[in-house]
Amino acid sequence: MLYRTEGIVLKSIEYGDADKIVTIYTKNHGKIQAIAKGVRKTKSKFGSSLEILTYAIFLIYKGKNIDIISQTEILESFFAASKEIAKFAFGSNCVEVVNKITEEGEVNLGLFFLLKEVLHYLKETKDPKLLTLSFKWQTLVILGYKPSFDRCCMCNSKIEDQKEMFFSINEGGVICNKCSSKDKRNYIQVSLYFIKLGRKLLITPLSIISKATIPDVRMRELEKLTDLFLAYYSDKSFKTDGFLKSL
Ligand SMILES: [Zn+2]
Repeated sequence: MLYRTEGIVLKSIEYGDADKIVTIYTKNHGKIQAIAKGVRKTKSKFGSSLEILTYAIFLIYKGKNIDIISQTEILESFFAASKEIAKFAFGSNCVEVVNKITEEGEVNLGLFFLLKEVLHYLKETKDPKLLTLSFKWQTLVILGYKPSFDRCCMCNSKIEDQKEMFFSINEGGVICNKCSSKDKRNYIQVSLYFIKLGRKLLITPLSIISKATIPDVRMRELEKLTDLFLAYYSDKSFKTDGFLKSL
């Protein structure tokens, strides 16, 4: 059986003497792995369509053990590694996140379009780090881990904005003064700026975020919280998957 799908290359590794095994995040089939045979023996467009960060149409044979890529047509090649090293690194980071948090064969149109969008706007943004961090928060929202920036995660009361606030990674959001006064050890002190920024990042299109910048000190705070939040929830989803499979 032959199938045709749009997809973005997440990972590409050499296999044997001339082949490549490629991980693709596809629009209609979710994440897939497929082999391209003999591709490293010829210098062709076929070869470059299998580089990471390439958005292409793939024509694929359903194989017994692994699917086989028969033809490709490049729609957009996001970055040439040699030319734009910094942006290439941010783009690679985005596809790495998608590769890590998705399971093979699970279709998610929202995430597919978000990935396509972030790679597209990384090309023109002045602040690739802000765009990449925003992509990570929006990815978590799409996967069902929406952080709360308005209501306390412990008692659900509406948060009053204050200069210093507390955030809990494992509760998934902001903690009110009353609750945080009971036990501060588990909470991270954050600025009001971070809370307000968080509210905006969850709902603002990447096309608009791509035109924004934030001060360095705020970026450091945002980066720290993003890394902690993403690490906690990607880890959690793996554990849940393992648990579900063991049933
Ligand atoms: Zn509370």
